[in-house]
Amino acid sequence: MISAQALTKNFEGIRALNGVSFEIEKGEILGFLGPNGAGKTTTMRILTCYFPPTSGTAKVAGFDVMQQSLEVRRRVGYLPENFPVYPEMPVNVYLDFVAAIKGLSGLERTSRIKAVLTDCGLEQVQERALGKLSKGYRQRVGLAQAIISQPPVLILDEPTVGLDPIQIVEIRNVIKRQAERSTVILSTHILQEVNALCNRVIIINKGSIVAVDTPDNLRMKLDTVNRVHIEVDGPADRVSEVLTRIAGVEKVEQVGTTATGSIEYSVYVHKARDVRRDISQAVVGAEMGLLSLHPMDMTLEEVYIQMVKDAASSTPAAVEPAATPIGG
Ligand code: ATP
Repeated sequence: MISAQALTKNFEGIRALNGVSFEIEKGEILGFLGPNGAGKTTTMRILTCYFPPTSGTAKVAGFDVMQQSLEVRRRVGYLPENFPVYPEMPVNVYLDFVAAIKGLSGLERTSRIKAVLTDCGLEQVQERALGKLSKGYRQRVGLAQAIISQPPVLILDEPTVGLDPIQIVEIRNVIKRQAERSTVILSTHILQEVNALCNRVIIINKGSIVAVDTPDNLRMKLDTVNRVHIEVDGPADRVSEVLTRIAGVEKVEQVGTTATGSIEYSVYVHKARDVRRDISQAVVGAEMGLLSLHPMDMTLEEVYIQMVKDAASSTPAAVEPAATPIGG
Protein backbone atom coordinates (compact mmCIF):
# COMPACT_ATOMS: atom_id res chain seq x y z
CA MET A 1 0.00 0.00 0.00
CA ILE A 2 2.94 2.33 0.75
CA SER A 3 6.43 1.95 -0.59
CA ALA A 4 9.43 4.22 -0.01
CA GLN A 5 12.74 3.68 -1.78
CA ALA A 6 15.97 5.38 -0.73
CA LEU A 7 14.32 8.63 0.34
CA THR A 8 16.64 11.50 1.16
CA LYS A 9 15.72 15.04 2.09
CA ASN A 10 18.15 17.92 2.50
CA PHE A 11 17.37 21.24 4.18
CA GLU A 12 19.92 24.04 4.05
CA GLY A 13 22.98 21.92 4.64
CA ILE A 14 21.24 19.35 6.82
CA ARG A 15 20.34 15.87 5.68
CA ALA A 16 17.04 15.21 7.42
CA LEU A 17 16.52 11.85 5.67
CA ASN A 18 19.36 9.64 4.61
CA GLY A 19 18.20 6.82 2.30
CA VAL A 20 15.02 5.65 3.99
CA SER A 21 13.27 2.59 2.45
CA PHE A 22 10.27 0.66 3.72
CA GLU A 23 7.11 -1.15 2.60
CA ILE A 24 3.77 -1.03 4.36
CA GLU A 25 1.12 -3.62 3.56
CA LYS A 26 -2.59 -2.94 3.30
CA GLY A 27 -4.31 -2.99 6.70
CA GLU A 28 -1.19 -2.42 8.78
CA ILE A 29 -0.90 0.09 11.59
CA LEU A 30 2.70 1.15 11.48
CA GLY A 31 4.33 3.23 14.21
CA PHE A 32 7.13 5.64 13.44
CA LEU A 33 9.20 5.93 16.56
CA GLY A 34 12.20 8.16 17.06
CA PRO A 35 13.65 11.04 19.07
CA ASN A 36 13.07 14.72 18.23
CA GLY A 37 14.40 15.60 14.80
CA ALA A 38 14.75 11.97 13.70
CA GLY A 39 12.95 12.57 10.40
CA LYS A 40 9.46 11.25 11.17
CA THR A 41 7.56 14.37 10.10
CA THR A 42 9.78 14.79 7.03
CA THR A 43 8.94 11.24 5.89
CA MET A 44 5.23 11.83 6.46
CA ARG A 45 5.35 15.11 4.56
CA ILE A 46 6.90 13.37 1.56
CA LEU A 47 4.22 10.66 1.65
CA THR A 48 1.46 13.29 1.79
CA CYS A 49 3.02 15.34 -1.08
CA TYR A 50 3.66 18.34 1.18
CA PHE A 51 7.13 18.54 -0.35
CA PRO A 52 9.15 16.26 -2.64
CA PRO A 53 12.15 14.19 -1.55
CA THR A 54 15.60 15.40 -2.61
CA SER A 55 16.12 11.93 -4.08
CA GLY A 56 14.41 8.56 -3.95
CA THR A 57 10.84 7.58 -4.74
CA ALA A 58 7.66 6.84 -2.84
CA LYS A 59 4.36 5.33 -3.86
CA VAL A 60 1.08 5.50 -1.98
CA ALA A 61 -1.75 3.19 -3.06
CA GLY A 62 0.20 2.55 -6.26
CA PHE A 63 0.65 6.25 -7.17
CA ASP A 64 3.96 8.10 -7.27
CA VAL A 65 4.11 11.01 -4.81
CA MET A 66 5.90 13.24 -7.32
CA GLN A 67 4.35 12.24 -10.66
CA GLN A 68 0.78 11.58 -9.45
CA SER A 69 0.43 13.77 -6.39
CA LEU A 70 -3.28 14.52 -6.97
CA GLU A 71 -4.09 10.81 -6.99
CA VAL A 72 -2.07 10.36 -3.80
CA ARG A 73 -3.75 13.29 -2.02
CA ARG A 74 -7.16 11.89 -2.90
CA ARG A 75 -6.33 8.66 -1.07
CA VAL A 76 -4.61 10.02 2.02
CA GLY A 77 -6.11 11.43 5.21
CA TYR A 78 -3.49 13.47 7.05
CA LEU A 79 -3.33 14.81 10.57
CA PRO A 80 -0.28 17.11 10.54
CA GLU A 81 1.82 17.88 13.59
CA ASN A 82 0.45 21.41 13.88
CA PHE A 83 -3.02 21.06 12.56
CA PRO A 84 -4.02 24.41 11.00
CA VAL A 85 -7.38 25.79 12.12
CA TYR A 86 -9.55 28.69 11.04
CA PRO A 87 -10.35 30.16 14.47
CA GLU A 88 -13.70 31.72 13.58
CA MET A 89 -15.11 28.67 11.80
CA PRO A 90 -17.54 26.41 13.71
CA VAL A 91 -16.62 22.71 13.82
CA ASN A 92 -19.52 21.55 11.61
CA VAL A 93 -18.91 24.28 9.03
CA TYR A 94 -15.22 23.37 8.92
CA LEU A 95 -15.97 19.67 8.46
CA ASP A 96 -18.46 20.51 5.70
CA PHE A 97 -15.75 22.62 4.04
CA VAL A 98 -13.20 19.76 4.24
CA ALA A 99 -15.76 17.22 2.99
CA ALA A 100 -16.47 19.43 -0.02
CA ILE A 101 -12.75 19.76 -0.80
CA LYS A 102 -12.43 16.00 -0.61
CA GLY A 103 -15.17 15.64 -3.22
CA LEU A 104 -18.04 14.46 -1.01
CA SER A 105 -21.48 15.74 -1.91
CA GLY A 106 -25.19 15.31 -1.23
CA LEU A 107 -26.35 12.66 1.21
CA GLU A 108 -22.92 11.07 1.45
CA ARG A 109 -21.44 14.38 2.65
CA THR A 110 -24.14 14.86 5.28
CA SER A 111 -23.85 11.32 6.56
CA ARG A 112 -20.04 11.37 6.74
CA ILE A 113 -20.06 14.64 8.71
CA LYS A 114 -22.56 13.11 11.12
CA ALA A 115 -20.47 9.95 11.41
CA VAL A 116 -17.19 11.71 12.22
CA LEU A 117 -18.90 14.04 14.70
CA THR A 118 -20.09 10.92 16.54
CA ASP A 119 -16.89 8.86 16.09
CA CYS A 120 -14.64 11.63 17.34
CA GLY A 121 -16.93 12.72 20.18
CA LEU A 122 -17.59 16.16 18.70
CA GLU A 123 -21.38 16.31 18.74
CA GLN A 124 -21.50 18.53 21.83
CA VAL A 125 -19.11 21.11 20.37
CA GLN A 126 -20.13 21.01 16.72
CA GLU A 127 -21.35 24.63 16.71
CA ARG A 128 -18.38 26.01 18.61
CA ALA A 129 -15.71 28.06 16.81
CA LEU A 130 -12.46 26.12 16.27
CA GLY A 131 -10.42 28.84 18.01
CA LYS A 132 -12.45 28.33 21.20
CA LEU A 133 -11.85 24.60 21.47
CA SER A 134 -9.47 23.01 23.97
CA LYS A 135 -6.33 21.33 22.61
CA GLY A 136 -7.93 17.89 22.98
CA TYR A 137 -11.02 18.85 21.03
CA ARG A 138 -8.93 20.54 18.32
CA GLN A 139 -7.01 17.28 17.97
CA ARG A 140 -10.31 15.41 17.60
CA VAL A 141 -11.33 17.81 14.83
CA GLY A 142 -7.93 17.13 13.21
CA LEU A 143 -8.64 13.42 13.27
CA ALA A 144 -12.22 13.94 12.06
CA GLN A 145 -11.04 15.88 8.99
CA ALA A 146 -8.42 13.19 8.28
CA ILE A 147 -10.95 10.32 8.27
CA ILE A 148 -13.99 12.11 6.81
CA SER A 149 -13.52 10.71 3.31
CA GLN A 150 -12.67 7.21 4.65
CA PRO A 151 -9.30 7.27 2.94
CA PRO A 152 -7.45 4.02 2.21
CA VAL A 153 -4.35 5.56 3.85
CA LEU A 154 -4.28 7.51 7.08
CA ILE A 155 -1.14 9.38 8.16
CA LEU A 156 -1.16 10.77 11.69
CA ASP A 157 1.68 12.88 13.07
CA GLU A 158 1.66 12.46 16.85
CA PRO A 159 -2.12 12.05 17.08
CA THR A 160 -2.35 11.99 20.87
CA VAL A 161 0.20 14.65 21.76
CA GLY A 162 -1.03 16.99 24.50
CA LEU A 163 -4.15 14.99 25.33
CA ASP A 164 -5.25 13.85 28.76
CA PRO A 165 -5.33 10.09 29.49
CA ILE A 166 -9.07 9.75 28.86
CA GLN A 167 -8.84 11.59 25.56
CA ILE A 168 -5.84 9.44 24.58
CA VAL A 169 -7.86 6.26 25.04
CA GLU A 170 -10.78 7.73 23.07
CA ILE A 171 -8.59 8.90 20.19
CA ARG A 172 -6.80 5.54 20.07
CA ASN A 173 -10.18 3.83 19.81
CA VAL A 174 -11.12 6.06 16.87
CA ILE A 175 -7.82 5.17 15.18
CA LYS A 176 -8.38 1.45 15.81
CA ARG A 177 -11.86 1.61 14.31
CA GLN A 178 -10.60 3.52 11.28
CA ALA A 179 -7.77 1.00 10.86
CA GLU A 180 -10.39 -1.60 9.94
CA ARG A 181 -10.69 0.17 6.58
CA SER A 182 -7.42 2.18 6.29
CA THR A 183 -3.72 1.48 6.31
CA VAL A 184 -2.35 3.69 9.08
CA ILE A 185 1.03 5.31 9.74
CA LEU A 186 1.38 7.21 12.98
CA SER A 187 4.34 8.88 14.59
CA THR A 188 4.77 8.96 18.32
CA HIS A 189 7.21 9.31 21.16
CA ILE A 190 4.96 7.22 23.37
CA LEU A 191 6.05 3.62 23.45
CA GLN A 192 2.84 2.56 25.07
CA GLU A 193 1.03 3.90 22.02
CA VAL A 194 3.06 1.60 19.79
CA ASN A 195 2.18 -1.34 22.03
CA ALA A 196 -1.48 -0.35 22.13
CA LEU A 197 -1.98 0.32 18.42
CA CYS A 198 0.74 -0.85 16.06
CA ASN A 199 1.44 -4.21 14.50
CA ARG A 200 4.81 -3.01 13.19
CA VAL A 201 7.32 -0.36 14.20
CA ILE A 202 9.95 1.59 12.31
CA ILE A 203 12.54 3.09 14.62
CA ILE A 204 14.18 6.07 12.95
CA ASN A 205 17.13 8.08 14.19
CA LYS A 206 19.09 10.89 12.54
CA GLY A 207 17.35 10.33 9.21
CA SER A 208 18.08 6.59 9.00
CA ILE A 209 16.04 3.53 9.85
CA VAL A 210 17.46 1.73 12.84
CA ALA A 211 14.98 -1.15 13.00
CA VAL A 212 11.75 -2.42 11.41
CA ASP A 213 9.81 -5.16 13.14
CA THR A 214 6.85 -6.06 15.29
CA PRO A 215 7.01 -4.65 18.83
CA ASP A 216 7.40 -8.22 20.20
CA ASN A 217 10.20 -9.20 17.81
CA LEU A 218 12.11 -6.01 18.56
CA ARG A 219 12.01 -6.87 22.20
CA MET A 220 13.15 -10.45 21.55
CA LYS A 221 15.96 -9.52 19.15
CA LEU A 222 17.54 -7.22 21.63
CA ASP A 223 16.87 -9.43 24.53
CA THR A 224 20.38 -10.86 24.83
CA VAL A 225 20.30 -9.87 28.46
CA ASN A 226 17.72 -10.99 31.00
CA ARG A 227 16.90 -9.20 34.15
CA VAL A 228 16.10 -10.71 37.52
CA HIS A 229 14.50 -8.54 40.17
CA ILE A 230 15.44 -9.47 43.75
CA GLU A 231 14.83 -8.12 47.23
CA VAL A 232 17.54 -8.83 49.79
CA ASP A 233 17.89 -8.22 53.50
CA GLY A 234 21.60 -7.50 53.89
CA PRO A 235 24.29 -4.82 53.47
CA ALA A 236 24.37 -3.38 49.92
CA ASP A 237 28.12 -3.69 49.29
CA ARG A 238 28.09 -7.32 50.42
CA VAL A 239 25.13 -8.15 48.12
CA SER A 240 26.89 -6.67 45.07
CA GLU A 241 30.10 -8.48 45.92
CA VAL A 242 28.38 -11.85 46.28
CA LEU A 243 26.23 -11.51 43.16
CA THR A 244 28.87 -10.24 40.75
CA ARG A 245 30.92 -13.37 41.51
CA ILE A 246 28.23 -15.56 39.89
CA ALA A 247 29.10 -16.70 36.34
CA GLY A 248 26.69 -15.10 33.83
CA VAL A 249 25.87 -12.03 35.94
CA GLU A 250 26.81 -8.93 33.94
CA LYS A 251 25.68 -6.13 36.21
CA VAL A 252 23.99 -5.57 39.57
CA GLU A 253 22.00 -2.39 40.01
CA GLN A 254 20.38 -1.14 43.21
CA VAL A 255 16.88 0.03 42.24
CA GLY A 256 15.16 0.84 45.51
CA THR A 257 14.64 0.30 49.21
CA THR A 258 11.47 -1.15 50.73
CA ALA A 259 9.61 0.22 53.77
CA THR A 260 11.15 -2.56 55.90
CA GLY A 261 14.71 -1.56 54.93
CA SER A 262 15.51 -4.41 52.56
CA ILE A 263 17.08 -3.45 49.25
CA GLU A 264 15.82 -4.16 45.72
CA TYR A 265 18.22 -4.97 42.89
CA SER A 266 18.09 -5.60 39.18
CA VAL A 267 20.53 -8.32 38.27
CA TYR A 268 21.42 -8.36 34.55
CA VAL A 269 22.22 -11.82 33.35
CA HIS A 270 23.40 -13.21 30.02
CA LYS A 271 20.36 -14.72 28.34
CA ALA A 272 21.85 -18.18 27.85
CA ARG A 273 22.04 -18.75 31.60
CA ASP A 274 19.42 -19.35 34.23
CA VAL A 275 21.10 -18.11 37.38
CA ARG A 276 18.10 -18.02 39.71
CA ARG A 277 19.35 -21.01 41.72
CA ASP A 278 22.89 -19.52 41.88
CA ILE A 279 21.49 -16.22 43.13
CA SER A 280 19.46 -17.84 45.88
CA GLN A 281 22.36 -20.07 46.97
CA ALA A 282 24.83 -17.14 46.97
CA VAL A 283 22.57 -14.84 49.00
CA VAL A 284 21.53 -17.46 51.53
CA GLY A 285 25.11 -18.84 51.70
CA ALA A 286 26.31 -15.36 52.68
CA GLU A 287 23.73 -15.41 55.51
CA MET A 288 21.51 -12.74 54.03
CA GLY A 289 17.76 -12.98 53.47
CA LEU A 290 16.42 -13.46 49.94
CA LEU A 291 12.92 -11.98 50.30
CA SER A 292 11.85 -12.17 46.65
CA LEU A 293 13.18 -13.12 43.22
CA HIS A 294 11.45 -12.84 39.85
CA PRO A 295 12.63 -12.62 36.23
CA MET A 296 11.62 -9.55 34.18
CA ASP A 297 11.44 -8.94 30.41
CA MET A 298 13.06 -5.90 28.83
CA THR A 299 10.44 -3.28 28.12
CA LEU A 300 10.01 -1.84 24.64
CA GLU A 301 11.26 1.41 26.09
CA GLU A 302 14.56 -0.18 27.06
CA VAL A 303 14.86 -1.78 23.61
CA TYR A 304 14.23 1.56 21.93
CA ILE A 305 16.75 3.45 24.05
CA GLN A 306 19.38 0.80 23.40
CA MET A 307 18.77 0.85 19.63
CA VAL A 308 18.94 4.62 19.39
CA LYS A 309 22.11 4.64 21.52
CA ASP A 310 23.72 1.94 19.35
CA ALA A 311 22.83 3.88 16.19
CA ALA A 312 24.15 7.13 17.67
CA SER A 313 27.51 5.56 18.51
CA SER A 314 27.92 4.41 14.91
CA THR A 315 26.78 7.69 13.23
CA PRO A 316 29.02 10.76 12.84
CA ALA A 317 28.14 13.83 14.92
CA ALA A 318 25.67 16.23 13.27
CA VAL A 319 25.63 20.01 12.71
CA GLU A 320 22.30 20.03 14.47
CA PRO A 321 21.97 17.32 17.12
CA ALA A 322 19.13 15.52 15.37
CA ALA A 323 20.22 15.47 11.74
CA THR A 324 23.24 14.47 9.75
CA PRO A 325 25.22 17.15 7.88
CA ILE A 326 25.32 16.66 4.12
CA GLY A 327 28.54 14.94 3.21
CA GLY A 328 29.04 14.04 6.89
P1 ATP B 1 9.88 15.60 16.24
O1 ATP B 1 9.67 14.33 17.00
O2 ATP B 1 10.61 16.63 17.05
O3 ATP B 1 8.65 16.12 15.57
P2 ATP B 1 10.82 14.50 13.68
O4 ATP B 1 11.35 13.11 13.82
O5 ATP B 1 9.45 14.64 13.17
O6 ATP B 1 10.98 15.25 15.08
P3 ATP B 1 11.62 16.17 11.48
O7 ATP B 1 10.63 17.27 11.77
O8 ATP B 1 11.34 15.30 10.33
O9 ATP B 1 11.86 15.29 12.78
O10 ATP B 1 13.04 16.87 11.31
C1 ATP B 1 14.21 16.20 10.85
C2 ATP B 1 15.34 17.22 10.72
O11 ATP B 1 15.07 18.09 9.62
C3 ATP B 1 15.51 18.13 11.94
O12 ATP B 1 16.89 18.36 12.09
C4 ATP B 1 14.77 19.38 11.54
O13 ATP B 1 15.31 20.53 12.19
C5 ATP B 1 15.04 19.45 10.05
N1 ATP B 1 13.93 20.13 9.33
C6 ATP B 1 12.66 19.67 9.22
N2 ATP B 1 11.91 20.51 8.47
C7 ATP B 1 12.73 21.51 8.09
C8 ATP B 1 12.57 22.68 7.28
N3 ATP B 1 11.39 22.97 6.70
N4 ATP B 1 13.64 23.47 7.09
C9 ATP B 1 14.85 23.17 7.65
N5 ATP B 1 15.07 22.07 8.41
C10 ATP B 1 14.04 21.25 8.63
